[in-house]
Amino acid sequence: MRLTSENPSGSSAGLRDNPPCMDYLPVFLQLQARPVVVVGGGRVAARKIELLRRTGARITVIAPELLPELQELATQGELQHIQAHFSPSHVFNGAAAVVAATGMSEVNAAVSAAAQAQRIPVNVVDDPAASTFIFPAIVDRSPILIAVSSGGKAPVLARRVREQMEALLPARLGALARFMGERRKAVKRALRAAARRSFWERIVGGIVGARVFAGDEIRAAEDFERELRTTHLTRSAATGGRGLGECYLIGAGPGDPDLLTLRALQLLQQADVILYDRLVPAAVLERARREAERVFVGKETGNHTTQERINELLVHYARLGLRVARLKGGDPFIFGRGGEEIEVLAAHGIPYIVVPGITAALGAAAAANIPLTHRKLAQSVTFVTGHVLDDGALDWPALARPRQTVVFYMGVGHLPQIVGKLLAAGAAPEHPAALVERATLPDQRTLRGTLETIAALAQAANVRPPALLIVGDVTTLAAADSVIGSELEAIAS
Ligand code: SAH
Repeated sequence: MRLTSENPSGSSAGLRDNPPCMDYLPVFLQLQARPVVVVGGGRVAARKIELLRRTGARITVIAPELLPELQELATQGELQHIQAHFSPSHVFNGAAAVVAATGMSEVNAAVSAAAQAQRIPVNVVDDPAASTFIFPAIVDRSPILIAVSSGGKAPVLARRVREQMEALLPARLGALARFMGERRKAVKRALRAAARRSFWERIVGGIVGARVFAGDEIRAAEDFERELRTTHLTRSAATGGRGLGECYLIGAGPGDPDLLTLRALQLLQQADVILYDRLVPAAVLERARREAERVFVGKETGNHTTQERINELLVHYARLGLRVARLKGGDPFIFGRGGEEIEVLAAHGIPYIVVPGITAALGAAAAANIPLTHRKLAQSVTFVTGHVLDDGALDWPALARPRQTVVFYMGVGHLPQIVGKLLAAGAAPEHPAALVERATLPDQRTLRGTLETIAALAQAANVRPPALLIVGDVTTLAAADSVIGSELEAIAS
């Protein structure tokens, strides 16, 4: 009913606006041990039976014959089979629901009529008009369940929405719901009603939830206990109600924001402050929570933040009770000093979680179509830093051997030295090599050449960091995109 201004009796906003119109009321039906009748024994019926079985319903199937897999279930006593064609004389004795899945519209119509006459909810598969209830598309993270429906108008769209939810939600959402359920009573005992809600919000949006999502329920339980104790004792006076601080060490990937992991996105969405490196582009930062404070800690000439200063900042922000995201290019544990940062966090008793990222070598390889290993060309791949060349840490003869791929990080400034060392250690001058500059970013460039030519090519093309040097036969594969390389080769020769 619509109330217009000629009919001013409705004073609340709800009455003045168009009343919301829903084609269906979404409800969740408790079917545990309750009888449900399915008419039909073919594929369509089997799909519905599979779903119904997950609810613990007691299923009766009316059909002249069953698919072998349904027959198997009947033999095991998992469902009851009434071997018959449906006839209106069948009584759905007290069934909680009836599903018509015969694929024959006259039979389905008869089932629907019989069920409705007996006041039993009925679904006719793919026929909303003949149904009194419909099956939504579902995301099952039990006990969390999401149902999506277009009321039969656009099933493909509903399924797309379902897929989007699927992609967005942590796989272990259900595990977190159970984890919380098991602790509800304890929290009720420990905290007054006023404190409980913010406590649970910290659990869901903090390291405890992140740990459960990462499959580490043991440490999640420890952190939970600690958080509960602290909240109980201090009512968070020291941290302005924010609880304990924590840190997420997140790999941001090689630059393309779509290469962030789902977990990285989830944690970036809940961080209070983000300490980010020079290698993290704005497009990645944009995926983070709007309100999060962003702090640049890049190690760049002119604006140099030392590692010690970064460590201090991590501890400083965590001690304020904040959720600190430490966002690093690529993967935090590949030439990222992530190891040093977690030592500092551990020494200060700050809980942390590490989220892997796609390291630059993997991003560059995919973006430049260079397989890092290859059955015929490379049986191993090595990631090396090209930053420290002279302290004897690298085994140059090993790196110079053929039939492998060697990826140098941070090598752009030292290309002639790197190439010189490889050649001196026995590599062939014609050994293939490639440079991938700004891999996965919009202005990515790939140069292909040999150990003999690559340094000159890089100089002619003015290659700047970040770039990777990839050495090995694999760099000659899929070379169709190396236009720049061959053009420059012409210039250089
Ligand atoms: N933790 C990072 C590496 C940090 S060291 C990771 O896992 O990728 C920095 C070096 O990484 C750069 O000097 C460069 O060699 C490489 N690098 C990072 N991002 C890159 C990109 N988008 N393209 C090419 N090289 C990149």
